Amino acid sequence: MKVTQVEFEVSAVKPAQYPDEVLPEIALAGRSNVGKSSLINCLIERKNLARTSSKPGKTQTINFYRINNQMFFADVPGYGFARVSKSIRAAWGKMMEAYFTERKSLKAVIQVVDLRHPPTADDQSMYQFLKYHQLPVVVVATKADKIPKGKWQKYLKVTKETLQIQPKDHLILFSAQTRQGKEELWHLIEEKLEL
Ligand code: GDP
Repeated sequence: MKVTQVEFEVSAVKPAQYPDEVLPEIALAGRSNVGKSSLINCLIERKNLARTSSKPGKTQTINFYRINNQMFFADVPGYGFARVSKSIRAAWGKMMEAYFTERKSLKAVIQVVDLRHPPTADDQSMYQFLKYHQLPVVVVATKADKIPKGKWQKYLKVTKETLQIQPKDHLILFSAQTRQGKEELWHLIEEKLEL
């Protein structure tokens, strides 16, 4: 995919604020600090469009980007902050529930995890939640540059088994630093969006 045009569309906290469902959509989810913004910036070849390291406590929004006028990326707020309040957690849950149940143009979800560590309990809950909503998931194990090449398969196996990734879903090795996996991920996105 050659990205020629990226526009920030809107930030939303509720369905009334989402863009009209005029384009197929991919959502991107992941634990905070996992490398989701870096992955988005790598995919769209921009340095800093998706805000890196959004801090806990800030207003949590779903940020929509229009790519090549062909698709939307929906960047959903990171989960798994250790110290956020109950009310923020509850608001996050409500927002996710609304988005993932109501968004008809959503074709698949990219769930970003850290290759270096087994997926956390929050990662597992997120994957189960997405499967409960019958959404196709592409699990992207990022920061591969931090693991020696000879150990990639071993770490991927841990990711796959811990999340209990279903046979229909994909698992991709990725690095925003080396851009490893970028083409493979774009191909999958195009396939899911039927572009
Ligand atoms: P987000 O909170 O999930 O959006 O995470 P960020 O994209 O802000 O990344 C969190 C930290 O991980 C930053 O310091 C990034 O530079 C670093 N990071 C992200 N992706 C990679 C990667 O593929 N390789 C390495 N080595 N560092 C990464």
